[in-house]
Amino acid sequence: MTRALHYLDSVPDTRDPAEYLAALERLRWEKLQKQIRYVWGNKDYYRQRFQEAGVASPDDIKSLADFRRLPAFLDKARHRDSQDESLRRYGHPLGLHLTTAPENAIHLAATSGTTGTPTFYVFSRKDLELTYKVLGRMFKVAGIRPGDTTFHAFGLSLWLAGITYAQALEAYGARPVTVGAEGGVPKILRYIELTRPRALFATPSMANQLIERAPAEIGKPVGALGIEILYVTGEPGGSQPAFRRRVREHFGAKVFDATGGAWLNGTITCDAEHAHGMHYMAEDYCFRYDLVDPETKAPLEIRDGAVGEGIHTALEYEAAPAFRNATGDILRLSVGECPGCGHFGVRMEIIGRADDMLMVKGVKVYPAAIQKIVHHFQPRLSGELRIRLDAPPPSVTPPLRLAVEAGEGAPQSEWPELGKALEQRIRELLAFRPVVSVLPFGSLPRTGAKTRLIEVVAP
Ligand SMILES: [Zn+2]
Repeated sequence: MTRALHYLDSVPDTRDPAEYLAALERLRWEKLQKQIRYVWGNKDYYRQRFQEAGVASPDDIKSLADFRRLPAFLDKARHRDSQDESLRRYGHPLGLHLTTAPENAIHLAATSGTTGTPTFYVFSRKDLELTYKVLGRMFKVAGIRPGDTTFHAFGLSLWLAGITYAQALEAYGARPVTVGAEGGVPKILRYIELTRPRALFATPSMANQLIERAPAEIGKPVGALGIEILYVTGEPGGSQPAFRRRVREHFGAKVFDATGGAWLNGTITCDAEHAHGMHYMAEDYCFRYDLVDPETKAPLEIRDGAVGEGIHTALEYEAAPAFRNATGDILRLSVGECPGCGHFGVRMEIIGRADDMLMVKGVKVYPAAIQKIVHHFQPRLSGELRIRLDAPPPSVTPPLRLAVEAGEGAPQSEWPELGKALEQRIRELLAFRPVVSVLPFGSLPRTGAKTRLIEVVAP
């Protein structure tokens, strides 16, 4: 088997995890020395962050270890404040942390803004070209070829998987049909019939809608449309075994779950039955897993199995770059050969959010990690769950109480055994034993993808 990440010319083709990481460290430090000086030039924002951290000159940072000891310089809240202030001061929303002249910022993408004011990603021409390159690697992993017709059913409006992705597909040579989620399900199905795409780009919920509505809208199942590749992003769910099975069964397609794209970042799963984390496709342009302890913020050793909060630095980004950006994502790294596809490299998995962390008897526990285990019990469990606490997080007095739902039609006689099996699995994987109650199907309210998994229930 060959290595997935052939693009890393400057990293030796080794199969030794330590050697691989050491080579990446050298490459990153080489790029960082330039980027530190570049970002230092921004007096409105970044130089102030350096100075607050006690750095009087870029020469003070003499190694990657020095760099990793710096605090976070940016996060979502500071990003928004920086945009607001630049709008007031300079009449543009590109941020005080803009590191190029405003006229060099030729492209904008934004987060959806469902959780507050949208934050903008600003691209110079170089940033766009490198973004196309990183996204192109992801398209390649998904098996998309130049010359393919690709169908775009992601929302097109401003977000990264919209116009930015469509342009990256054009740069790659894979003709996007840009109907977009805005076109609506009937039009999407009709245009898929008209254009015969080989790959479909859609969120997991759009893919589910197409499966459900195709027979009524176009008189045939989605499996008759000839789609070979389903490329999903934008929502959780694309790595869930139940979703992957459903897509294979109905579309007859391989499924790839991607994240990122902003600030030269980008990860994608292989199409193995169980997604074994996200293959990291931007090693040479990003330091995404500069892991710190979510409580003390001290740097953690980067190795196979490491878990910590991801600090992201784009190593050669020009316009308003991520530079020690606290993502809030808790990552688990795997370094080595992927059990799913055999490729060698770094895979990462987002197992929670720093602000979601629970402490159970000194063990750090993330609701998303519990959710993932519950999802592996589908279809015997519905996948819905609630973590019920007596007092506000993070500290939990054991045992942690977990309510889950039986799957539709799962016989009630099996529930006690199912509950025990889940308790045992959580103990094995997360090092604490919860008390699980299995509830009838449909008894936990569905309030959409962002359902809070934690409920504080007064005793
Ligand atoms: Zn793989």
